Amino acid sequence: MDGSGLPETRSTCPYCGVGCGVLLRPDGAGGLSVRGDPDHPANRGRLCSKGSALAETVGLGHRLTAPLVNGTETPWDDALQLVADRFRATIDEHGPDAAAFYVSGQLLTEDYYVANKLMKGFIGSANIDTNSRLCMASTVAGHRRAFGTDTVPGTYEDLEEADLVVLVGSNLAWCHPVLYQRLLAARQARGTKIVVIDPRRTATCDEADLHLALAPGSDVALFNRLFSAIHDSGAVDSAYLTHTEGFVPTLEAASTTDASVTGLTEAEIEAFTRLWIGTEKVVTVFSQGVNQSSSGSDKVNAILNCHLATGRIGKPGMGPFSVTGQPNAMGGREVGGLANMLACHLDLENADHRTAVRDFWQAPTAPDRPGLKAVDMFRAVGEGRIKALWIIHTNPAVTMPDADAVRAAIRGCDFVVVSDVTGQTDTARLAHVLLPATAWAEKEGTVTNSDRTISRQRAVLPAPGHSRPDWAMLAEVGRRMGWTAAFDYESPAEIFREYAALSGIAGQFGRDFDISGLGGLDDDAYATLAPTRWPVSATREGGRFFADGQFYHPDGKARMLPVTHRAPAARTGPRYPFRLNTGRLRDQWHTMTRTALSARLSAHLAEPFLDIHPEDAARLGLSAADLVKVTSPTGSAILRARITDAQRPGDVFAPMHWTGETAPSARIDTLVAAVTDPVSGQPESKAAVAAVTRF
Ligand code: SF4
Repeated sequence: MDGSGLPETRSTCPYCGVGCGVLLRPDGAGGLSVRGDPDHPANRGRLCSKGSALAETVGLGHRLTAPLVNGTETPWDDALQLVADRFRATIDEHGPDAAAFYVSGQLLTEDYYVANKLMKGFIGSANIDTNSRLCMASTVAGHRRAFGTDTVPGTYEDLEEADLVVLVGSNLAWCHPVLYQRLLAARQARGTKIVVIDPRRTATCDEADLHLALAPGSDVALFNRLFSAIHDSGAVDSAYLTHTEGFVPTLEAASTTDASVTGLTEAEIEAFTRLWIGTEKVVTVFSQGVNQSSSGSDKVNAILNCHLATGRIGKPGMGPFSVTGQPNAMGGREVGGLANMLACHLDLENADHRTAVRDFWQAPTAPDRPGLKAVDMFRAVGEGRIKALWIIHTNPAVTMPDADAVRAAIRGCDFVVVSDVTGQTDTARLAHVLLPATAWAEKEGTVTNSDRTISRQRAVLPAPGHSRPDWAMLAEVGRRMGWTAAFDYESPAEIFREYAALSGIAGQFGRDFDISGLGGLDDDAYATLAPTRWPVSATREGGRFFADGQFYHPDGKARMLPVTHRAPAARTGPRYPFRLNTGRLRDQWHTMTRTALSARLSAHLAEPFLDIHPEDAARLGLSAADLVKVTSPTGSAILRARITDAQRPGDVFAPMHWTGETAPSARIDTLVAAVTDPVSGQPESKAAVAAVTRF
């Protein structure tokens, strides 16, 4: 209850990976009020511009309210039977790998769990991947290589307890605003130093003590230089080193690195290494500037190497810290919703893990090889190898790299199902079957934020029209394909209990993700579940991992990895002289399906643009607000020029939010080539090449 005496319901913001708690109060007429939950550990009452505008985005004008088959309203029974029949026929005729699901970090954990179980356990393929592949797959790969599992070692409190916070490839002020607010409050209280490592001078740099505008893609060289300096200055923690392998080859690789590729001066590099080495309590936060790279996994490991060498990990105010983009990217990782993972951080490559999951599910199968990662999945769609595709809560026709090719691939696919809250997306318009899903504030389930806190999303508004939760659609298709008992769910609580019980098996294998302590929740306890950070049966003080030197490789040790600098895959040259960076704006989310409904959010930056340095603008004869044509090897876009020295000369930046629905000439991911990190499969979304001309 708040001061008005009206009941409020606790839920979680549906946008970024900070995972802020919100208090919702419906007005009885389809609307609601939203305020920050003072008791949620992620935000303690704070909200950012997007979170505080949530109430402005719950209108029903754009909603899909009934299933459509080839554009015709169709009863649920018929639509779901068609989906089941077509997937069944595809598998029978072409094998399970001719089917695929492409899902989303917007999905709730229970939805994600059912999708993953249906594809990996019953359809019999690992062809389920997620738009989280575009978000943090390089972090997953880096964590698994170093730690033996995909564990975020620290917590949000560490940013408040640190004396130095280094933000690498992270515009925290815009992309994780409440966490940034917490950092600034800590800085005020204890004088935390802030370093930003980013080719752009972003809003996050406003409060930074040091901004290193390094050359795009050169993070490995910088952190290798730090690693060498750690060694040379005697800052290696030799006691902690006994918990690791790989120090010597890592040092050799680091010592041969030429840090001049960063484009930074020696003075800048030394200022950074001196500060990092000289500050015991250091947290290195990293995000998409690290992940969205053809060397993203190596960048992650270059950062982890430095923390492992100094033993600055898993202790209060110390550690590497990945901030995820989406509200439930972490939950997706935990349920195994990536093509190369099993549920509950069990390994797809491990036969014992596969057998255990299959037995638990009483499933007919467990794929013994990874499925297709996002970019390869849509290539396979384009080549006709995938013939039945279910896309859930995401818009790959706009957001995948080489988006025109992806759009054409989806258009040419034999059978495409899209479930979403609206039919007005570039991808939804390509669907043979369009299924109406319930949206945030209409559905029940859980999400996990960037510091492993599981929070409930709760329904306070009625489901519009005939819309249904995703888990219900997926389970019904599973039943109609013949797996009645396995998908006989009646509620998300029931799914959560099964998932928690499965995690107990992961715990028996000694894996990190064990929430089996939550498996006994009855419906009432699930309904009132408070935010809970795992590990829940905590033997680990403060909810942190690795301070004790216990890792998840078979020998219990961490791995330092020798990594070397690799430039971005696409090279600039006379034809495409600019390095194109893409990213988010403060007040928009993804393809604006929800945020564009708020007039005040749309007013922040109202149209697509290209940031360009004054010297480049002068050379091209551009004035502020001129229209420019941006061309790359894969596409072109028309954007408004913004002339700013926040860009390095030769680099340009464009936001990623606009779509064929909102600005057909500004679909930025048409410009980005489908180049990926060889380990993580994550696309290089921040280092395309482009030509710019006046339009
Ligand atoms: Fe929502 Fe992220 Fe803003 Fe918190 S910081 S209110 S989770 S968008």
